[in-house]
Amino acid sequence: MGVRWDLALGAWDLTADPDMPLSTSTVDALAAVVGAGGVLTEAEDLIPYSFDGTAALRQRPEAVVFPRTTAQVAECVRLAAAARIPIVTRGSGTGLSGGSIPTPGSLVLCLAQMDAILDLDPRNLTLRAQPGAITQRIDEAAARHGLFYPPDPGSMRISTIGGNVAENSGGLRGLKYGVTRDYVMGLEVVLPSGEIARFGNQCVKDVAGYSLKDLFVGSEGTLGIITEVLIKLVPRPAARRTMLALYDRIEDAAATVSAIVAAHIIPCTLEFLDRVTAVCVEDYAHVGLPTDCEAVLLMETDGHPAVVADEAAEMEALARQHGARDVRTARTEAEALQLAAARRNAFSALARKRPTTILEDVTVPRSELASMVRFIADTAVAFDLQIGTFGHMGDGNLHPTFLADERDKDEMHRVHEALEAIVKRTLELGGTITGEHGVGLAKKPWLRQQMGDASLGLMRQIKLALDPNNLLNPGKMFD
Ligand SMILES: Cc1cc2nc3c(=O)[nH]c(=O)nc-3n(C[C@H](O)[C@H](O)[C@H](O)COP(=O)(O)OP(=O)(O)OC[C@H]3O[C@@H](n4cnc5c(N)ncnc54)[C@H](O)[C@@H]3O)c2cc1C
Repeated sequence: MGVRWDLALGAWDLTADPDMPLSTSTVDALAAVVGAGGVLTEAEDLIPYSFDGTAALRQRPEAVVFPRTTAQVAECVRLAAAARIPIVTRGSGTGLSGGSIPTPGSLVLCLAQMDAILDLDPRNLTLRAQPGAITQRIDEAAARHGLFYPPDPGSMRISTIGGNVAENSGGLRGLKYGVTRDYVMGLEVVLPSGEIARFGNQCVKDVAGYSLKDLFVGSEGTLGIITEVLIKLVPRPAARRTMLALYDRIEDAAATVSAIVAAHIIPCTLEFLDRVTAVCVEDYAHVGLPTDCEAVLLMETDGHPAVVADEAAEMEALARQHGARDVRTARTEAEALQLAAARRNAFSALARKRPTTILEDVTVPRSELASMVRFIADTAVAFDLQIGTFGHMGDGNLHPTFLADERDKDEMHRVHEALEAIVKRTLELGGTITGEHGVGLAKKPWLRQQMGDASLGLMRQIKLALDPNNLLNPGKMFD
């Protein structure tokens, strides 16, 4: 495909034409596969598919197609391949790295209508779903059998399981339960050739051949189109305790996290809000957060009731020993949800403040957390920017969130400079440019710096082997 992402411009280079525009005959052939109502080509219908959750990135596709079955996906891929039209797969479009932003001249394959939960097997503790199934519905289906699907991205009420697998999404419970990859047992994938391949099965142990399903987890729509997901479920924890600890110093919140882990307690949630974020959340959700503390830690433990009670008492004591000015424990489920809402509402609360919200996603080793949070706060001052930071402190995963206005060129320039400084510092501290949102377009400029030439070269060879015509999500992750 001819169009390239220009690293210097931070935009698509539209001087290179797409190889071939979408012809009427291809549109007709796609409509014959999915039905006339399953293809959108009118400019106004394409607008909602021109952006995702990533600020300041948009590009109109040539058409949007809504397949309902794997066979339809495969046929659409064959038609697009024959016409050399790039395909950008889309779930709910909540991505935060520009992964589902259309490549110029592309066809968006939106899998939101393939949303069935196909099977829940309580004997094998597995669930099979189409890729468009909403993450929260999967956990709700599991809950009806006393089971649990732990990965809970903040977007779980709207994100799809296909998008979660493609991004290897994390969530608030990642510290104890891991991320999406840890639950994927099998995948059905339509390859760029249009072939349908299946990887994995319901067996707990399986070492037959290369672990190819793992190649597709986190592949961001660049290697294949995930059309079915087989996931592992676990028993639902019998009890949970939720607490909020409030601090006057960020370092004390970070020290509490280290002390809890050193005490061999692995809470399901250890989430952090800085003061800028806490003020916005209180203004938005009125959950009773003080607006003068420097850091808020949301702590949750779950499991057997006796263990939960012990761990909660120990976590409270450790928080107080490490300088918490107050620790609040939820007495009821409603109170627990209210405390957790303080963290879950962070993005929405910050997004109300300025027209453009740029949610970043750096991760550092936990030992470097306090230094990284402090560096981000200093960077905000140095570049005269508003940055609210929240994140999964137990995982070392921080979301510095820039509150800006994309119409203000000078401010956006400062945002990019500040982001460059934050990414540089992250890498110096042994961290990663993305802990869960993926590379897409947003983190592409820094992938080489993190991975080095040999690793990036290997990734290119894998892409070339699977997708020699660069049909799937071209220009994402790397050129
Ligand atoms: C408010 C908010 C909170 C969020 N919180 C979190 C969080 O806590 N943790 C986290 O990890 N992320 C979070 N995200 C980011 C985002 O929700 C996740 O990346 C999510 O997994 C994307 O799912 P989606 O269905 O919206 O995928 P999309 O945005 O539509 O697509 C994401 C990527 O996956 C590819 N893709 C989608 N479906 C398929 C498929 N079936 N086959 C192949 N490729 C596919 C796309 O091409 C694209 O590259 C948040 C986003 C928002 C807006």
